[in-house]
Amino acid sequence: MAIDAAELIAVRLPLVRPFVTATTTTAAREVLLVRVVVEGVEGWGECSAEQEAAYWHETVHTARAVLPAIAAGRPAPHHPMAEAAFEMAVLDATLRAEHRSLAGYLGATRSHVDATATVGFDDDIDAFVAAGYRSVKVKVAPEHPLPAGVHHAAAAAVGVQVDANGSYASVPERVADLDGLGLVCIEQPLAAEDLAGHARLCRELRTTVCLDESVASLASLDAVLAARAAGAVSVKPARLGGIVAARRAHDRCVDAGIPAKVGGLLETGIGRAAALAVAALPGFSLPADLSASDRYWVDDLTEPFVLDGAGRLAVPDGPGLGVTVRTEVIEQAALWRQDITP
Ligand code: MG
Repeated sequence: MAIDAAELIAVRLPLVRPFVTATTTTAAREVLLVRVVVEGVEGWGECSAEQEAAYWHETVHTARAVLPAIAAGRPAPHHPMAEAAFEMAVLDATLRAEHRSLAGYLGATRSHVDATATVGFDDDIDAFVAAGYRSVKVKVAPEHPLPAGVHHAAAAAVGVQVDANGSYASVPERVADLDGLGLVCIEQPLAAEDLAGHARLCRELRTTVCLDESVASLASLDAVLAARAAGAVSVKPARLGGIVAARRAHDRCVDAGIPAKVGGLLETGIGRAAALAVAALPGFSLPADLSASDRYWVDDLTEPFVLDGAGRLAVPDGPGLGVTVRTEVIEQAALWRQDITP
């Protein structure tokens, strides 16, 4: 495989409204894109690292620093999000050349994936239910009262997940307040490394405990499964090093009999296309943390993803990622570009 050209492009995209969680507030997203040309065919990748190292240790800056080496074929073991971005671009190009879809390459079995609106502290749950979502994931923290929309959604037969981002670590006994609400799952109530605490919650609660931040690598997934610390797992391909690693994580969850879902990280259409192909694998039986484009973006970088009448997103079935990158939007939003051709 000969890489003819490789380029980094950073864009700044405003969010429709600020996104507020227990740990972060995001009003605009700086997104690092990778564009490659492999044997004459273009491919695109998206890096999930953010501007600040709030949620994860990698940033746009650290990814920019290591991607030239990754393009030259050198591994970057502590930079899975940077590696994932490059892998996505190369897979897009090589599968386009072969006229194969990413979903087909992975062995995906579904044409549509149940979408989820992730609801920050400043968002209105009812508006997402009205917009057609059949699954919502509500950010929670012990100091915030549970919004009334949780009950409205449950009454409308909308599946409700809650995500604490570890915020119950100092008051683990209060996680029990969330039990008995008929939730689909409680995501990451305690600290990432507290597998014993999560295992205890798995034994004590009726509600499924889903681990997200605890699954920072394939090795940590193995530790979570061995400790029986999760009743479900959120797989974030970028955090594991890419799409191929996510497929391995999927297989391990299937072998362990643990339901899984694909977690989201404020993707543009490029990253969302890749995530949907992964989410269409049979073991990802929980609704994905993936929403329509207008949940986050005024102007997405691809054709917009829209919900169908059943609250689902179609899995792209065209060659590669199966989406068309809107280069005119990228031109307008570009902050800088850097040639990293090896
Ligand atoms: Mg989460």
